[in-house]
Amino acid sequence: MPFHIMTLSRVAMPVSQAEGLKILERDQFCCRYCGLDGKASFENALVMSVDFVQPRARKGKKDPANLVACCRPCNTIKGTRVYKSFEDAKKYVLDRREQMRRAWEATRVRPAARAASA
Ligand SMILES: [Zn+2]
Repeated sequence: MPFHIMTLSRVAMPVSQAEGLKILERDQFCCRYCGLDGKASFENALVMSVDFVQPRARKGKKDPANLVACCRPCNTIKGTRVYKSFEDAKKYVLDRREQMRRAWEATRVRPAARAASA
């Protein structure tokens, strides 16, 4: 269970296994940005990670208050921008995800719409 998750993500994580596990347990293995449930499936477990709300690259501290459970897609979207707060970061990530979803849906719906009108 948790140990598999941590073992799989250990290499990419700047926090120790024990520290990361504490954060994931505190957040119930759910991404704090999009809500993805890391316990729902193996695939979900694979993408769970721990995120620095204020990025390390911006001198974010390795402190539980600055760490959240996070899926890799949200982590990638969030990047190393500086945010005023966790809520600010969450809003950015969710807005960006929504934009990306719309763009993806647009490319996907078109062929079907064309077929329906033919
Ligand atoms: Zn997420």
